[in-house]
Amino acid sequence: MLRERLIAALGSDGVKTEPEDLAVYSFDAYTDGGRPAAVVLPKSTQEVSAIVKIARDCGEPIVARGAGTGLCGGAVPTAGGVIVSLMRMNRILELDLQNRRVRVQPGVMNLDVSRQVAPEGLFYAPDPSSQQISTIGGNIATNAGGPHCLSYGTTVNHVLGLEVVDNAGEVFATSIDDAGYDLTAALVGSEGTLGLVTSAWLGLLALPEAVRVWVAAFDEMDAASEAVSAIIAAGIVPTALEMMDAVIVAAVEAAFHAGYPTDAAALLLVESAGFEEDVAASEAAIHAIVNAHGARYWKSARTLAERNALWAGRKGAAGATGRIAPNYYTQDVCVPRSKLPQALRAVEAAARSNQITVGNVFHAGDGNLHPLLMYDKSDARQVAAVVETGNVILQSAIELGGTISGEHGIGWEKRDAMTRIYSTADLATMGRVRDVFDPRRMLNPEKIFPSGVRCPEVAPP
Ligand SMILES: Cc1cc2nc3c(=O)[nH]c(=O)nc-3n(C[C@H](O)[C@H](O)[C@H](O)COP(=O)(O)OP(=O)(O)OC[C@H]3O[C@@H](n4cnc5c(N)ncnc54)[C@H](O)[C@@H]3O)c2cc1C
Repeated sequence: MLRERLIAALGSDGVKTEPEDLAVYSFDAYTDGGRPAAVVLPKSTQEVSAIVKIARDCGEPIVARGAGTGLCGGAVPTAGGVIVSLMRMNRILELDLQNRRVRVQPGVMNLDVSRQVAPEGLFYAPDPSSQQISTIGGNIATNAGGPHCLSYGTTVNHVLGLEVVDNAGEVFATSIDDAGYDLTAALVGSEGTLGLVTSAWLGLLALPEAVRVWVAAFDEMDAASEAVSAIIAAGIVPTALEMMDAVIVAAVEAAFHAGYPTDAAALLLVESAGFEEDVAASEAAIHAIVNAHGARYWKSARTLAERNALWAGRKGAAGATGRIAPNYYTQDVCVPRSKLPQALRAVEAAARSNQITVGNVFHAGDGNLHPLLMYDKSDARQVAAVVETGNVILQSAIELGGTISGEHGIGWEKRDAMTRIYSTADLATMGRVRDVFDPRRMLNPEKIFPSGVRCPEVAPP
């Protein structure tokens, strides 16, 4: 019944129900879990609307899916249902140069937006390291961040309006220009639990006049962390401020020959952009600060090719870990910047006591840690050790005044950890917001909200 109705709405080319297809759509970059009843690949908002109405009639949950690069099990069909892949809705619909904005379908890749508007001297600022392979729809649903979000802000700061299909299959639009509640911001980061994004207006920025990237090397992680705090405390906000440890640098250099020094305990990758005089002033100030914190190496990349090489190394870091172990798990936690030294020591201690190799590559300026825990999935001891290490790191971030996710989202992975930072009353409030958009809780069920917390427990008293 479900299959026949979906085929009638989309044609057989847009509906997948073969076991091998369902298996392929059962996981994301974090995990696998559950099997969908069907996978559908709509080409228009009208088709998304029809799918939601059919799934609703058949009592099937609906899970929106972009490229499946999510790192928290957000697009995984843990409760079965219909997976709505937005990958065929991949057109840039409208470029409004006068208002510096662009309207795109959700399946457009992040980097393609900047590529498309670069000839006009513009770019789209949010730049997750997955930007070549993740979609705007997925970025919106997770409120994706990235190295350059330190000064430009995350996805929520660049989405101007949305077209959304709601839980009943009806289409509605939001705009940040609307008076009243900012529903656009409410939908960004909602991980597919409030509606399916079918198009988005994105704000564009002018390409800066000058861009410079620097590398500073330190003999100790603590010194590099303290330099990060000192840079921000001095009132300088670089466009990006990233840190990498020796484990990551060795893997990246072997894979990409980015030009990083390989004999340091920690590297800072710092970028400033803006007017030439401002960038030059930042360079002098940042150089002085890192020197005062014991940097023993400093390199300035002045050409585009040099800058690109340094960034290619950073953005390819996760892939480069394939040289260390067959699998890695990325923890994503945030701590106050001033607590970076303690947080990194906690990561190191947790990995050591569980005999796990850890590599750190992260958005230091935001205090957003990404310890990559290396392991071999076929070894049960290592799997258990990684789970334990990740858990200890999560708890230590909370104890340092931080939070359980910096940018990857809650999804399936961290829903139970929500109770560690939110009270029952907090979760009930969030539940009430969700119920306004999706009272039947059929949009991406089993995500964000803790297991065992059912509707009545988070419903209004
Ligand atoms: C190597 C690597 C590096 C990464 N670096 C970063 C980084 O720097 N910063 C960062 O924030 N993340 C990063 N990520 C995580 C991931 O790329 C982001 O979360 C990204 O936004 C997910 O996009 P996606 O298209 O793959 O979405 P998916 O994984 O397919 O889905 C993610 C979530 O969005 C929902 N969703 C997808 N499309 C829609 C839609 N149209 N409407 C409603 N809901 C939808 C899904 O249901 C799911 O909950 C990285 C991942 C990898 C593998």
